[in-house]
Amino acid sequence: AQKRWANAPATADLLATAPLDPARIRTRFPPEPNGYLHIGHAKSICLNFGLARDYGGVCHLRFDDTNPEKEDQEYVDAIMDAVKWLGFDWTTHAKEHLYFASDYFELMFKFARSLISAGHAYVDQQSPEEMRNMRGTLTEPGKDSPWRDRPIVESERLFDAMRAGMHADGSMAVRARIDMRSPNINMRDPVIYRIRHAEHHRTGNKWCVYPMYAFAHPIEDALEGITHSICTLEFEDQRPFYDWTLSQLRDLGHLSAQLPQQYEFARLNMSYIVTSKRKLLQLVKDNHVEGWDDPRMPTLAGLRRRGYTASALRLFCERTGVSKSNSRIDYALLDQALREDQDPVARRSVAILKPLKLVITNFPADKVEPCHAPNNPHDESAGQRNFPFTRELWIEEEDFAEVPPPKYFRLFPGNSVRLKYGYIVTCTGCVKDETGRVIEVHAEYNPDTKSGTAGANSVKVKGTITWISTLSAIATEFRLYDRLFSEPFPDAGDRDFLTCLNPASKEIVHGWLEPGTLAEKGVLWQFERLGYFTPDLLDSSASAPVFNRTTTLKDTWAN
Ligand code: ATP
Ligand code: MG
Ligand code: MG
Repeated sequence: AQKRWANAPATADLLATAPLDPARIRTRFPPEPNGYLHIGHAKSICLNFGLARDYGGVCHLRFDDTNPEKEDQEYVDAIMDAVKWLGFDWTTHAKEHLYFASDYFELMFKFARSLISAGHAYVDQQSPEEMRNMRGTLTEPGKDSPWRDRPIVESERLFDAMRAGMHADGSMAVRARIDMRSPNINMRDPVIYRIRHAEHHRTGNKWCVYPMYAFAHPIEDALEGITHSICTLEFEDQRPFYDWTLSQLRDLGHLSAQLPQQYEFARLNMSYIVTSKRKLLQLVKDNHVEGWDDPRMPTLAGLRRRGYTASALRLFCERTGVSKSNSRIDYALLDQALREDQDPVARRSVAILKPLKLVITNFPADKVEPCHAPNNPHDESAGQRNFPFTRELWIEEEDFAEVPPPKYFRLFPGNSVRLKYGYIVTCTGCVKDETGRVIEVHAEYNPDTKSGTAGANSVKVKGTITWISTLSAIATEFRLYDRLFSEPFPDAGDRDFLTCLNPASKEIVHGWLEPGTLAEKGVLWQFERLGYFTPDLLDSSASAPVFNRTTTLKDTWAN
């Protein structure tokens, strides 16, 4: 029997001791640690980990860390954090399936050198620009490099010298020897190894030659026994080279006969966001947002801080499906998933975002009337919340109009409304400051109309408004987030995506919260009439609560 991973390093050795059941699928999520994960990555995580879970297989978390300049431990940590938060685990059957491409550098070097020895690769001393010029185009075949037929021993010697640090970046590279006239440009002698005198976040200065992604990736998959290597559609044209690399290495005796297969699916494209790492970085660097975890960012860190739950994101990924053709998913679907996820469980409460004082002039100043409401109207077992009704209340500024516009059913002089869970009140007037601004509204309550009592329905009113007693309201900062871009396709065509930033994507207001609304992190609340809110992960505290608006109760964006 062939030994599966004859020369595999420690991480892959673990697998060699446990022969794979061929019916068991093995997938991987292979991020490059050069940035924060975004919602597109969530799609790939749900797909790869989800397949393994559904078919009793295993999914590897593998860091594709073959590009030393752009990568960092900070990103490794943030990525592990995000995958766990999304609800996935790379430990299966008590074995941790966490891998680093950099653990395979020795093997990859050996494999590349073996390809050279077999005449399947050579060291090319053309400059990167010369290589580009010789590569041809879609309609024009490429031309052979003058170094293509150099003696094998010369390429072997030069590759060893490259590794020993004797040559400068870009002075030479190893190329697969395939076919410069192939109709597929990716098969025109692609570079497989290059020189980079750069420090790597894990291997330090041990290496100054690094494998190219297209060469490294199939090897990583094969060494780990991946069965389904799932990637996005752009890699379809790379599949012949993926297969070429693996079959050459198998024929040279480096890999087992059972090789991984690459499968492609459409990447997640979504309206009202950008997901290119370069553009996300620009938003951060140029201070259009306040960091990678700004609640307006489509990063998992940002979405989490905004209040999107892991289960809502998983529901969204499942809903939007896996497809072979590119399309754009409406951002509203994400909010819908959140509402569906949270409506059955989120505790209800009242917040007043833009407060105006309402004085119940016929209610005694020293009286406190207890009121109650369900914590969740869909779930009786969630119990009741209690709060007081007193003479002075906070209401929303927009719930009073001195001169009502047409079809306005809230407070205006002479009109009656229900104070939700309290009494029916009739507006008697208002008090203004010297600038003419309304600073206080006056009303009288009808003591027979308390919610939940026999008289509650004795008087019919058209409007119901929310309120909080000024005696026990919690002073709170609210951050009202909205979409970061005001155009559905911010980076369409050659438009500069920064020209469609939504100027109203963040508004800060200071208002009040119903007593008992805790600033416990990671918990979503539904504030009646307003939407879903959650305490800010960084800035909120029990003594100074800060709540982020995740989304409103209804989609207000027409497409
Ligand atoms: P870059 O921005 O540098 O091109 P990337 O978006 O490819 O990077 P990686 O870290 O290499 O990011 O991605 C890890 C995995 O996530 C890859 O398998 C990739 O196919 C997948 N992925 C990335 N973006 C999306 C997306 N929008 N939809 C679905 N999958 C994605
Ligand atoms: Mg990539
Ligand atoms: Mg990308």
